[in-house]
Amino acid sequence: MKSAGIQFDKQHSALLVVDMQPDFIPGGPLGVPTGDQILSPVRTIMESERFGVIAATQDWHPSGHISFASHHEGKKPLETIQLYGKEQILWPDHCVQGTAGAMMHPDLPWDRVLAFVRKGEDPGVDSYSGFRNNRAPDGSRPKTGLAGYFHDRSITTIFVCGLARDVCVRWTAEDAADEGFTTILLWNLSRSVNPDGDDQLRKELAGKNVKIAESSALGL
Ligand SMILES: [Zn+2]
Repeated sequence: MKSAGIQFDKQHSALLVVDMQPDFIPGGPLGVPTGDQILSPVRTIMESERFGVIAATQDWHPSGHISFASHHEGKKPLETIQLYGKEQILWPDHCVQGTAGAMMHPDLPWDRVLAFVRKGEDPGVDSYSGFRNNRAPDGSRPKTGLAGYFHDRSITTIFVCGLARDVCVRWTAEDAADEGFTTILLWNLSRSVNPDGDDQLRKELAGKNVKIAESSALGL
């Protein structure tokens, strides 16, 4: 079976695997619905040897992180606060540094990954994107260095997969496009916290120069 194939050359293409950690899998404190269903196909694409570089992000918070509802008196998960002039969603405690739920998921072949970027390590700043933190107190979005890494490796095209599609995958893909990379979100290799918003998300990603494809378009 062959769908509309995507042409890309291996040397200049990267796969970026976002936050595939047990805490985001159903059963975890921030389990993304049906997130476990992408483990097998993400393994397949990581083992495909189609990419010059595979990189991965790891959500990596200190306990008491500012994004945790438990840090804010009287607040519950999924409520919002104003933080440095922007809305911040409050989450259940998740991906606390050193805990089992914060490790890279044991079912995936992490030996294939050349670069890991940890994010969200600043107690007072959240980081959805693998490229830049969310807004900091001074209003800036400090970079993680990942764009520089890809540029140094002569990467021009980035395929993004992982969890969650409507949060960290989305922010990562939008920043990748903003950094000048041809960016393709592999839709079937991601899942949303709120699947009801997926149709709207598709439209908004198109407006941010993020292409959407299925992994079958890569012949996988
Ligand atoms: Zn987080």
